[in-house]
This record gives sequence, C-alpha cells and structure tokens, in this order.
Amino acid sequence: MSKVLITGAAGFLGSHLAFQLIQKDNQVIGIDNLSTGKMNNVMRLIDTGRFQFIPYDITSHQVLTLDALRGIEEIYHLASPASPRFYQSLPFGTIAVNTIGTNFMLELAKTNNAKFVYTSTSEAYGDPQVHPQHEDYRGNVNTWGPRACYDESKRLGEVYCYEYFHRFQVPVKVARIFNTYSAGLRNDDGRVISNFVTQALQQTDITVFGDGSQTRSFCYVDDTIQALQLMMENDAANGEIINIGNPIDYTVLEVAKLVKELTRSASPITFHSLPEDDPKVRRPVIEKAKKLLGWEPKVSLEDGLNRTIAVYRAENNDKKGLLL
Ligand code: NAD
Ligand code: UDP
Repeated sequence: MSKVLITGAAGFLGSHLAFQLIQKDNQVIGIDNLSTGKMNNVMRLIDTGRFQFIPYDITSHQVLTLDALRGIEEIYHLASPASPRFYQSLPFGTIAVNTIGTNFMLELAKTNNAKFVYTSTSEAYGDPQVHPQHEDYRGNVNTWGPRACYDESKRLGEVYCYEYFHRFQVPVKVARIFNTYSAGLRNDDGRVISNFVTQALQQTDITVFGDGSQTRSFCYVDDTIQALQLMMENDAANGEIINIGNPIDYTVLEVAKLVKELTRSASPITFHSLPEDDPKVRRPVIEKAKKLLGWEPKVSLEDGLNRTIAVYRAENNDKKGLLL
C-alpha cells in the first residue's frame, strides 16, 4: 500500500486511475481545481471511503505546504485541460498548470523522495511530418496558433521532468499519451468520441471536421490506465519518455461510420470546417512500451466503443427518457 497523489483526479483519466488505485488498497489523495473536472467523478471516489479530495489549484505555491501531502510516495501528475475545446478557452491556466504546476509537483516529489509520472501527450509531436511517431521524433509544433498553449506547455513540462531527473535524480517517467476514450468523458467535452457517441444517440448530426481523412489512434481507458501504473511501478521507465497509445489508426470518417453503425443511429454524417492546425495523422510506435513495460493495448476500437456506447446510452435514458 502506498500513499499516492493524483493531480487532476476529478478529470476523465484521473478519476479512472484513482478508482483503480483504490481497488489495489492504496491511500489515494486527489487534488483538482475543478476547472474541467466534475464533482460527480470525485463523489464516486469519496464514496469508497478510501479517497481524500483536496479542491486546490496546483499552480498556487501554497500547494507545497499542504500537510496532507507530507510523506507522499507516488505522484501521478495529470492536471491539465486536455480537450481542445477546453484548453483553448483556458490558455493561461493550461500553460500555468503544465509549467508552474509541473514544477511544483516535481518539487514535492523531490522533497518526499516520491516517484513521478507526468502525463504528456502525442500533441508534443504537433502536426507530425514523420509517421508513425517514435519517441525520438522531435515534432512539428506551431508556437503561433490556438493549440500552442497546450502543445508547447506540455513540451516545457517534459523539460522540467528532464531537469529534475538529471539534476536531482527524481525518478521521473514521462507518458506521451495518445487519444484515450471511454464513458466518463463529459458530453460537452468536445473530443471526437464523446461528440460522435452523444450525437449518434441523440439522433443529431455526426459532425466530421474537414473531409474526415485525418487519422487518430484510439486507446481504451483501461489500457492507458494500466500503462500509467506499469510506468510508476517499473524502474526501467525512470528518465524515459514512453508512447502510450493504440498502434492502429483510423480516419475520423471511419470512426463516424463505425459509431453510427454500432449505435444503429439514423444521424446524418455532416462535414464542417477543419480547426486550425488540426494534425493530419497520428499513430504511436509502441515498441518501447512493449520492451520496458511488457505493455500493449488489449481493447479493440469496436469493443471499446460498444462499452462506451452502453454507458452513454444508459445515462441518456436516465436523463431524458430517450432513445434507441
Ligand atoms: P480532463 O480535463 O478530464 O482532466 C484534467 C483535470 O485537471 C480536470 O479535472 C481539471 O479540473 C484538472 N486541473 C486543470 N488545471 C488544474 C490546476 N491548475 N490545478 C488542479 N487541477 C487542475 O483531462 P483528461 O483527459 O483526464 O487528461 C488528463 C491528463 O492526461 C492531462 O494532463 C492530459 O494532457 C493528458 N492526456 C490525455 C489524453 C486523453 O486522450 N484523455 C491524451 C493525451 C494526454
Ligand atoms: N473531430 C471531428 N468532429 C468532432 C470533434 C473532433 O471531426 O466533433 C476531429 C478533430 O478535428 C480531430 C479529431 O477528430 O481531427 C480528434 O479530435 P479531438 O478533439 O478528439 O482530439 P485531438 O486529437 O485533436 O486533440
């Protein structure tokens, strides 16, 4: 049993991770400023009786003085808006949490001799010119655009991790996470899976941006969460950047058609303008994760979508007495 801190515990990945760690009898403390997270996610965790919630902004220096964090052994640093809709509406908060927030959390790890997992992102590769993306690829990121607040601050977060690993020997591990999905994403999150499933179940237009030929690799949440835990447990991951994602990519139009088919929805698929700097391709090389962690994803997109759809459908029915 370890004393574990999760930043961003009220969010999508953070709450799933907290639930898993609680099941394994860890003492879990979650910090979240609820900027994009949901109190509902936290209530579910508090109900287990083995979770402490601290509503707090980790970019505040005071976070380093919180009594509850003394003796922390593991830090999963997940706090940061992740959906383009949210990080673009919170650019300064996004920059701050990934830079100052990461700095404070690393400082906490240093003081407590804690292990540290940082959730970076496939966005570190920007709009990649090398496909698929290997960890050594340095990326193609635009500093002068609407995605920069996220992409570049995540990259700077990695730099903080590098410095704390090399200067202070903090056992830091950096996960570059590729698109992860499941139920639990907010319906208004704006990310593609939550949008398409919500739209299909509500019989509204399935909104494909551009011509839908851009690709993404979708990893089911259980697979991603398992990888983060393996990174924490495994010393071979110390000082390493590791891609965590599903090595099969789909075009966005293929995903729209698959969601429509699996939900048996009558929604039309409609086409809308492509957001600025939307990456055209994205697919991880996961040989490093296989070698260092013995990890690869197990859940296919079709299985994961079926699980996701079942939960969204039940929630929809609860809320509106609706549908399908
Ligand atoms: P999310 O928006 O659901 O969760 C992020 C959480 O961080 C929210 O609960 C939010 O309130 C909290 N937060 C933001 N700023 C904070 C601050 N200053 N202090 C305290 N809490 C703060 O996002 P998610 O999908 O769960 O992503 C979690 C992490 O994983 C993020 O760091 C994201 O960049 C990374 N990631 C996620 C994906 C994905 O597909 N979900 C892909 C790549 C990387
Ligand atoms: N997308 C789409 N329709 C939507 C939401 C997203 O076609 O309703 C596209 C988006 O333009 C991008 C891909 O789906 O090409 C993934 O978008 P998301 O916001 O989920 O994550 P990203 O990988 O862009 O951060």
